[in-house]
Amino acid sequence: MNFELTEEQQMLRDSVRKMMDTIATPEYIREHDEQGLFPYEVYDKWVKMGLLGLAFPEKYGGAGGDVLDMVIIGEELGRKGYDFVGAFGMSIFNGLNVLRYGTETQKKDYIPKIINGEIRLSISMTEPDAGSDVGAMRTTAVKEGNEWVINGQKVFSTAADSDNNIISLYVKTDPGVHHSKGVTLFLVPKDTPGVTIRKLNTLGRRMLGTNEIFFDNVRIPDNHRIGDVNKGWKCLLSGLQFERLVTIAGYAGNAQTVVDDALAYAKERKQFGRSIGEFQAIAHMLADMQTQVSAARMLMLNAAVKTAKGEDALMEISQAKLFGSETFANVANQGMQIMGGYSYMMEFPMQRHYRDARSTTITAGTSQMQRNVIANLMGLKVK
Ligand SMILES: Cc1cc2nc3c(=O)[nH]c(=O)nc-3n(C[C@H](O)[C@H](O)[C@H](O)COP(=O)(O)OP(=O)(O)OC[C@H]3O[C@@H](n4cnc5c(N)ncnc54)[C@H](O)[C@@H]3O)c2cc1C
Repeated sequence: MNFELTEEQQMLRDSVRKMMDTIATPEYIREHDEQGLFPYEVYDKWVKMGLLGLAFPEKYGGAGGDVLDMVIIGEELGRKGYDFVGAFGMSIFNGLNVLRYGTETQKKDYIPKIINGEIRLSISMTEPDAGSDVGAMRTTAVKEGNEWVINGQKVFSTAADSDNNIISLYVKTDPGVHHSKGVTLFLVPKDTPGVTIRKLNTLGRRMLGTNEIFFDNVRIPDNHRIGDVNKGWKCLLSGLQFERLVTIAGYAGNAQTVVDDALAYAKERKQFGRSIGEFQAIAHMLADMQTQVSAARMLMLNAAVKTAKGEDALMEISQAKLFGSETFANVANQGMQIMGGYSYMMEFPMQRHYRDARSTTITAGTSQMQRNVIANLMGLKVK
């Protein structure tokens, strides 16, 4: 595997890093995290740089980039904080479903608007009783004339309340059959009558936030349906690998920042007349942290290169997701220890990394679910 970046990829990485250093300052991030504010100003910059269009074909106003470009961006955004990766990725991942399964009219309508920042897309699969077992969802859409009537409840819908958001909503359209044959995908603008969004109070990921959404006789025209009726499960699965890769790249970027910050602190902080990094206990923690992050990054790149070649990379992506999220959570925990009492103060970003990292072994498929996938691919039959 060749992990060397081309000159163009290096330019992309450097320009994203420079832009993020300029706009996503520590003060900006702290304010947005503390107050639960969506990073609109940063998002607008991404739009101006054309980053929202990178994954889409030129035909619809995109730049025709590949998965490696996307993981480079994911890693760079992750350096500032994992929530930036979520803000960046969500519209793209859901927009790619429009590209794959939408009609020509839908593609021409939605994709340019995603690219120019006119609309955002969030995703709603999870329900109170349907988490890892997402096929157990109970929200329904019933056809009446040329409209669909939606009733039910979703939970943990990240950034669903952001300005101009459209919810990529997975619902049952045939509750009587196996979920793989009875789910349909709809695009529901967040201010559609009958939609109520309530922000949840979370430990971390506070810039984007996550929401409960109630659907009470919500009426949506049939042209808001993406793909065929009862074929939504295919849409749901099709984007997951790509989404996971960009997400995992974000873990690697954010975990590296944790190590960099902890290392800088260990070099500077003096106790007993010497920097704490001279204590072997701390030095070894940092050595282990960097080794784990480098290994997580290699697993991610390995999966990305395989995906870019068009090969099936479910095993590699699942391993990279499992190891990347657990590494991020572990090093953030160690980073807290190294920074001592100051890590616990809200003015230092380590506590934010720690809070945000904790979500990553749960979201986008829990660690247990990744282990199930890996074990099944090893020929075991895990229940
Ligand atoms: C911050 C945040 C943002 C999120 N954003 C979104 C979003 O935008 N859209 C969306 O649709 N969802 C979102 N989610 C939901 C997320 O995908 C779910 O939380 C996740 O799928 C797990 O579901 P659950 O929380 O119901 O846990 P459960 O599925 O109830 O799991 C509880 C525990 O049981 C374990 N478990 C469950 N089944 C098995 C099994 N078969 N084998 C072994 N162990 C098992 C799990 O690993 C876990 O440890 C978000 C969640 C969070 C916390």
